[in-house]
Amino acid sequence: MSAFELLGVSAQVGGRTVLQPAHLRLQAGCWTAVVGPNGAGKSTLLRVLAGLLPYQGQLRYQGQPFERLSPAARARQIAWLGQNEPAFEDLTVWDVVMLGRMPHLGLLGVAGPRDVAAVQQAMYIMQTQEWIHRPLASLSGGERQRVLLARALAVLATTLLLDEPLNHLDPPHQSDWLRSMKAQVQCGATVVSVMHDMTLALHADRVVVMRDGCVVHEGASQDPLTHRSIEHVFDQRVQVLPVQGQWVALPV
Ligand code: ADP
Ligand code: MG
Repeated sequence: MSAFELLGVSAQVGGRTVLQPAHLRLQAGCWTAVVGPNGAGKSTLLRVLAGLLPYQGQLRYQGQPFERLSPAARARQIAWLGQNEPAFEDLTVWDVVMLGRMPHLGLLGVAGPRDVAAVQQAMYIMQTQEWIHRPLASLSGGERQRVLLARALAVLATTLLLDEPLNHLDPPHQSDWLRSMKAQVQCGATVVSVMHDMTLALHADRVVVMRDGCVVHEGASQDPLTHRSIEHVFDQRVQVLPVQGQWVALPV
């Protein structure tokens, strides 16, 4: 089953085509990493999938035309974490994570036990409980990022779209994040994340490789064709090699 199908999907920003017509199928129930040089159009692609940017062409989500999904249903089914987005600095960590429950709250906007449980679980997974009462603005970059990841997890969405989720995270927390994404996928979620670190991206199931607004490759993270494509878009300034049973991308 596909989570997303793109048939000639393109997008413009500031009058310029920054996503060239893309033909792509993103599998449901797996983790896809989107990689490529700066300015390749990775964030643009993710913003289109999140419904945050107008597009041309045909986009389908779970077999249905994307535009048929109401904004409310979309917010429940697709959790989004943007790159460097300003966020509610004065709110406490608890309230920021509770924002992830907004799409599920009724007309009165009152959180019930299910919402509280989802927030607690997300905070536990991202290890943010100790800052519950702190304003978001008082946290370090990495701590803040973990709170925003907890907010995305609290949605309990089928699909997670995360733009550079490991921004500012230290290696142990990167490792914890990898484990939690694999757990999400095992529970049936679809994860699509833009990844800055190629070695971490190679832990994903599938990899989408982009350059100059074009999707140049989609393939398994273990496939040598995927590795050659990554090396190609970085002008051979990256080499993918096996090290102790894991693929790593070394700068050259
Ligand atoms: P990536 O995430 O791969 O680094 P982006 O999708 O953010 O790339 O950007 C793709 C291209 O679109 C870049 O050339 C970028 O400069 C351009 N772009 C992105 N946002 C804007 C904007 N608001 N106005 C003009 N150009 C933009
Ligand atoms: Mg980006």
